[in-house]
Amino acid sequence: MQLKDRSAIVTGAASGIGREIALRFAREGARVAIADLNAAAAEAVAAEIRARGGEAVGVAMDVCSEDAVNAGVNATVAAFGGVDILVSNAGIQIVHPLEEFSYADWKRMLAIHLDGAFLTTRACLPHMYRSGRGGSVIYMGSVHSKEASKLKAPYVTAKHGLLGLAKVVAKEGAPHGVRANVICPGFVRTPLVDRQIPEQARALGISEEDVVAKVMLKDTVDGQFTTVEDVADVALFFAAFPNNALTGQSLVVSHGWFME
Ligand code: NAD
Repeated sequence: MQLKDRSAIVTGAASGIGREIALRFAREGARVAIADLNAAAAEAVAAEIRARGGEAVGVAMDVCSEDAVNAGVNATVAAFGGVDILVSNAGIQIVHPLEEFSYADWKRMLAIHLDGAFLTTRACLPHMYRSGRGGSVIYMGSVHSKEASKLKAPYVTAKHGLLGLAKVVAKEGAPHGVRANVICPGFVRTPLVDRQIPEQARALGISEEDVVAKVMLKDTVDGQFTTVEDVADVALFFAAFPNNALTGQSLVVSHGWFME
């Protein structure tokens, strides 16, 4: 029970990586708000946690909306009495060659990944500062926080940007015991990745099997996908770490695709 009596908000927790982190945190004793654009799916994950004896609420939240983020964080604080852990995880992927990227798609990508991280952090920090217990802010970066791939200009740009945001939050949060770190996963088989495989195959003119073997997993040490459980393990480590010794950092979990 590493997170007993802690309250957490996980954005994008109705699916994939966020869902697994929410389930893991709940198993470790945390009260968890499942914040997602898809309110019905968020409530279903919360119900799953409650059915297993945990404490969870579903929160409808578009992380790009200032009002929705503030309302969702306030609802979480009303339900749980505070918020100790934020996992800013909601994200999407759009792939195009740069010269074909619409400005609207570029802005949408930066809004979800960067505005979402800013808005949720800004809404949670005052509660963490006030509690006197400190807190943990975790951003879902990517190997694309460190490394580039073709077709992913706004994603790579935004994921690199999260490293900067985490470092600022680490410095500003330190006097209040608030830490900020970034998880940088390699490819994880979630709906976000499953949608990319046919898209990349079309864009690169290769088969779907070759997208997996020769693009996604080509540089891993063992040709394996990272799993949602692997990422949840790292999230729990960052969430439960007790002091400012571990802050402003990023950790790559990618089967060696990227080595620092
Ligand atoms: P997913 O598609 O399974 O889940 C993403 C969730 O985010 C969905 O439930 C979706 O409804 C929600 N969401 C999308 N836009 C939102 C918004 N504006 N407001 C609130 N919620 C919103 O994807 P996933 O693979 O679990 O990705 C989660 C995070 O992990 C993303 O930030 C992604 O960039 C990152 N990531 C994924 C991989 C991977 O290979 N899957 C690798 C590295 C990083």
